[in-house]
Amino acid sequence: MQRRELLKFFSLAPLAGGITAIPFQSVSAAPAPPSVKRNLFKELGVRTFINAAGTFTMMTGSLMHDYVVDAIQGAATEFCMLDELQDKVGEKIAALVHSEAAVVTTGAFSGMTLGLAGILTGMDQKKVEQLPHLDGTGMKSEVIIQKAHEIVYNHALKNTGCKLIYVETAEEAEQAINDKTALLHFLNIEADKGKIKHEDWVALGRKHNIPTSIDIAADVPPVSNLWKFNDMGFSFVVISGGKAIRGPQSAGLLMGKKEIIAAARLHMPPRGFNVGRGFKVNKEEILGMYVAVEKYIQQDHDKEWKEWEAATAVIQNAVKTVGSVTTDVTVPALGNVTPTLNISWDGTKVKLTGKDLQEKLRNGNPSIEIGGVKDNSITVTVWMLKPGQEKIVAGRIKEELAKAVG
Ligand SMILES: *Cc1c(COP(=O)(O)O)cnc(C)c1O
Repeated sequence: MQRRELLKFFSLAPLAGGITAIPFQSVSAAPAPPSVKRNLFKELGVRTFINAAGTFTMMTGSLMHDYVVDAIQGAATEFCMLDELQDKVGEKIAALVHSEAAVVTTGAFSGMTLGLAGILTGMDQKKVEQLPHLDGTGMKSEVIIQKAHEIVYNHALKNTGCKLIYVETAEEAEQAINDKTALLHFLNIEADKGKIKHEDWVALGRKHNIPTSIDIAADVPPVSNLWKFNDMGFSFVVISGGKAIRGPQSAGLLMGKKEIIAAARLHMPPRGFNVGRGFKVNKEEILGMYVAVEKYIQQDHDKEWKEWEAATAVIQNAVKTVGSVTTDVTVPALGNVTPTLNISWDGTKVKLTGKDLQEKLRNGNPSIEIGGVKDNSITVTVWMLKPGQEKIVAGRIKEELAKAVG
C-alpha cells in the first residue's frame, strides 16, 4: 500500500486511533502465558452441558476432534494466501470425495448459495457484481425443487435472487422447466418423501441440460455418502463440516463440477464485489476441515458404531428398570443416521412430562440436553457424548423418572 492509501485506510477505519495507539512492540511480543487456564464459559456464566441430544446448530453442533483443533492451532501461527490454500486443500478434498473440484465453505447453506451463484454467472465478473438482481441481466432465475424437499435452508438459493418453483411429480417438473431454469435442487434427508428419486432427478437435469444439486448436510454416516452423490452425477453437492464429521461448525464443503466450483469462488472472499463476501472461511477452518474430512474417511466406522450401540445400551438398561418405562432403539433411514434411544412412559404412573424431564436434566448438575421431547417420551443419542458420559446420562434420567413414580 502507498502511504496515501494507508492514510486513507486508517482515516476510514473507526478504530484507527486505537490501532495507532498500540505500541509497535506489542504486536510481535507474545503475551505472557497465563498461569491458570481461563474458563471463559465460567467467566461469562454460560451454561455448558452434556449433549445427549445430537448435532444441533443451537447447541453448537459437535465437538471438534483433537486433530482438528491441532490443525487450527498450527494454522494460526502463519500467514498464507487464501486462494492458494483453497486451491491446494480443494484438490485434496476433491480426490477424497470423487468430485472434479471442491472448496471449503462456511457450511452447507453457503455452499448452496455459492454453487448456484456460480451456475448463474459462470466466470463473468460483471454478472457476479449484478447478483442478487437478475432482472434484465440475461441470467437464469428459477430453481425447481420437489414440494417434499421444502426446508428453511432452501432460502440459501434465494440469496442469489432466484425464485424457487416447487413441483410434485416428474410431469410437473418437466412442465416447470423453461429457459429461466438454472438448477434442479434435491434434499437428501427427505429423499423418501419425494416422488422423484435421486437418479431420476439427475437424469432429468441431463435430459434438459440443467445442472442438479443436492443438500446432504446431515447425511454422514454412512461415510460413503461423501462420494455417492458425486459419483451419481449431481453437478454440485453440499455437506456440513460441524455435524458428524466434527470439523469446525462454521465450515462445510461445496463439491462438484470444475466450472461450477471455479465460478462459485468468484463469489467468495478474498473477492468482495459479490453476494458471498460474508461467507469467509479462515485458514484455520480450511485446514481444520481438511483434516476432519481426511480422518473421517480413514476412521473405523464399524468400531464407532459399536461404541454408539454400547453406550446406548448403558442408558437403555438403566432407564427401563423404572416401572412403566419402555425403550426401543431406532436408526433414522436418512439424516443423523445413528442409534436413537426412544424412552417413553405411562404418564399416569410416572408423573412427569417430557418437558418436565428436559427441564430437570437441563437444570441438574451436570446439565444434560436431550432431544425428541413429547408428552410422555424423549429421545437420546450418544454420538455427541464424551466417553463415560453415558453413565451420567443413564443415572440422571433413571433418577428423575424413578422420583416421579407415584
Ligand atoms: C444443518 C443443515 C443445513 C445447514 O448446514 P450448515 O452447514 O449449518 O450451513 C442445511 N440443510 C440441512 C438438511 C441441514 O441439516
